[in-house]
Amino acid sequence: APAAPAAVPAPTTGPASAAPAADGPLPVLGRDVTVPLVTGGHVTYAALDYAASAPALQRVWDDVAAYAPYYGSVHRGAGYLSQLSTDLFESSRATVAAFLGCRPDDQVVFTRSTTDSLNLLAHVLPEGCEVFVFETEHHASLLPWRGARVTYLDAPRTPGQAVRTLERALADREPYGPALVCVTGASNVTGELWPVRELAAAAHAHGARVVLDAAQLAPHHPVDVGDLDVDWVAFSGHKLYAPFGTGVLAGRADWLREAEPYLAGGGASRRVARRADGGVDVDWHTTAARHEAGSPNVIGAYAIASACTALTEAGFDALVARERELITRVREGLADVPEVRVLSLFGDDAPRVGVLSFVVEGWNSSHFAAALSAEYGIGVRDGLFCAHPLVRTLLGGAPQEPGACGAPEAGPGERSLNAIRVSFGAGT
Ligand code: PLP
Repeated sequence: APAAPAAVPAPTTGPASAAPAADGPLPVLGRDVTVPLVTGGHVTYAALDYAASAPALQRVWDDVAAYAPYYGSVHRGAGYLSQLSTDLFESSRATVAAFLGCRPDDQVVFTRSTTDSLNLLAHVLPEGCEVFVFETEHHASLLPWRGARVTYLDAPRTPGQAVRTLERALADREPYGPALVCVTGASNVTGELWPVRELAAAAHAHGARVVLDAAQLAPHHPVDVGDLDVDWVAFSGHKLYAPFGTGVLAGRADWLREAEPYLAGGGASRRVARRADGGVDVDWHTTAARHEAGSPNVIGAYAIASACTALTEAGFDALVARERELITRVREGLADVPEVRVLSLFGDDAPRVGVLSFVVEGWNSSHFAAALSAEYGIGVRDGLFCAHPLVRTLLGGAPQEPGACGAPEAGPGERSLNAIRVSFGAGT
């Protein structure tokens, strides 16, 4: 591999160990953005919608800016910059593998997002594969399994009940063919942590494989594929303090290697030749490239790798401790307002990441969120958070449609049936 020009940060291939821990927020873009208020004047924006998209770490931005003048095509050029970009793309893959504690045979596929990663996995399911998924999942985990027989599991009210529900469903299945369980690491609505290790053990005991939706877990907690014993993990760069456009599916190589490519085209194919009968024979790659046809997003991959390195260097122990402090402050503040009801599946004391949803009695959540923005410069999200069955369960009623944005008004005195979410993270 060519040596990088001095301006390009050396690609990293694993977590740095001796770096100082973060004892405050990590520098992120947009910290000083001022926004207008309806009451006149401006205020510094309070970004409390990390669960939708987190601001990029300054470090990620700097790394990308240093590399940008040198980017070239990946796997497609003899020139110096193409070689440099290929090297950076592949070392980014190695950095992500190290960040996730991948096993030696695992593959790391760069995708567009968590949604894309889970659709890719749905595409490679073996013939006859059954899928088990809790109804409480984000739609990205709930909906991609269209060709498979899907069992939707009822919302559990404790982590233990989640494990028992899964065990019962798996014990009942017939015949005993391939199966996949899709579990979330942390809910994008309640922020609650799910018993991933226990669910994975239950799945494996019944011959099923497990994919972890770590979209909300990875930005807040270490995710170690081997330690959690999950078969695949999916996450998005734009929630992990990198810009939009790149996600990851990492895990077992066999289903990925044996299936038809997710996208067909250049880069996925090793050899293409006309056959005597006029058709075309294709020999597809058996590496991650099999599912990465087209010119790869090297900047996106490098940005994710940079974020992985920055979080590892900051130290998850420090990040988790800080976030726990912040969530306690939010909980205590909300507890002082009698009209506020915090939404929870597993109970008030359940451990959670920096994500929390609530309703305010007598208020339409959309109006409340709009007022927080217009009058205080606080950016939160209102709606049903692409997890309609879960929010419906938590609110105990049929939601008003449409959910995510611009839910219709509740009448005077009516309870609002959409919710408000505050979420934060390493830059808060
Ligand atoms: N899974 C969870 C738990 C999420 O919170 C989200 C996004 O909010 C997704 C998956 C989908 O992520 P993306 O929109 O980046 O594909």
